[in-house]
Amino acid sequence: MLSLAQRGEKVAPSSTLAITAQINAMQAEGIDVVKFGAGEPDFDTPDYIKEAAIAAINEGFTKYTAVSGMPELKEAIVEKFKRDNGLAYKPAQVIVSCGAKHTIYNILQAICNPGDEVIFCAPYWVSYPEMVTLADATSIVIETTPAQNFCMSPEQIESAVTDKTKAIIINSPSNPTGTVYDVEALRQIAEIAVKHRCYVISDEIYESLLYDGLKHQSIASFSEEIKEITFVVNGVSKAYSMTGWRIGYTAGPEKAISAMSRIQSHSTSNPTSIAQKAAVAALTGPQTAVETMRQAFEERRNAICQRFDEIDGVTYVKPQGAFYIFPDFSAHYGRTIKGRRIDGCMGMKTYLLEDARVGVIPGNGSGADKHLRLSFATSLEEINRGLDRIKGALER
Ligand SMILES: *Cc1c(COP(=O)(O)O)cnc(C)c1O
Repeated sequence: MLSLAQRGEKVAPSSTLAITAQINAMQAEGIDVVKFGAGEPDFDTPDYIKEAAIAAINEGFTKYTAVSGMPELKEAIVEKFKRDNGLAYKPAQVIVSCGAKHTIYNILQAICNPGDEVIFCAPYWVSYPEMVTLADATSIVIETTPAQNFCMSPEQIESAVTDKTKAIIINSPSNPTGTVYDVEALRQIAEIAVKHRCYVISDEIYESLLYDGLKHQSIASFSEEIKEITFVVNGVSKAYSMTGWRIGYTAGPEKAISAMSRIQSHSTSNPTSIAQKAAVAALTGPQTAVETMRQAFEERRNAICQRFDEIDGVTYVKPQGAFYIFPDFSAHYGRTIKGRRIDGCMGMKTYLLEDARVGVIPGNGSGADKHLRLSFATSLEEINRGLDRIKGALER
């Protein structure tokens, strides 16, 4: 039988990648498109990190390592959690995977049985529902509004929890909204998880990109009880501009980490040895490059917000972290501009791309049709050029 497995049918392809391909095709035709689609920093990986990888190659560090990460990197991760988050782990509570995406996939594979429920909010990162589906579990999506900063309230979570709840996913700062959970709300969410005995998956990949003087606090840091049931997910992609190196990691309950390691041992084995060496350098080296990039993102955040303030009928929640803004364009939906009717976020995406030559990501892939995501991981010049075009296109 040459039929394919239902597994592949059940998951949607990444809409972000499809639109990125469309934008790139236009560029290849010589069309000048301003791109706000990027899900990654636009900076180069810092030199001291690249040099560590080159040294690893020259020294012949090019063979298999331990499946769940080499001891030197696990020690560096243990040290990072202590230094940045006040969290004490043993190396056996840490796994290194091929990106934070892979580590979240492994977590869900390790904890979910058919029928289990996983709670997270909309707007969500596009991969959460698909990874839950691939683990045969059910997504329980809590709708959030701009008024609540796109953060689930403890009350919403409390009423969504059932005896099938396996985990709650928290992503703060968030992709696609850039919003950050309030510390007091996080503390209450931790209490709910402890009370109902469900795991917390805390995706902290944007931890280092916070603005307005905010400081990151991991939900795992409130008590020993919550730490024991929390998976703290992080990686080097966003903080060190290392998306292509594919190194992410999780610290969490030892039994679950060991199950994740068994699963990983039969799929990818260890993440690339050379990239692991680079990650050691990233985590243990001078952290000045991280702060330099953060400052650049904050300046861009300020610029893009200021430009959106000049556009009628578009509202937004000011991002407090990450490098995305997620404005509500729905006041323009249903309009007919230049003979073209704007239907939902896909219609707006197409109008902005084909008429204004600006590439943005529609919010429906994140469960939020009123919104479109713009990444400000691009230069101030491009931000200004793109926002001029958007303003012009919507004022017609
Ligand atoms: C980018 C991103 C990740 C994954 O990054 P990796 O490159 O796989 O380490 C995880 N979660 C969110 C919310 C992201 O935006």
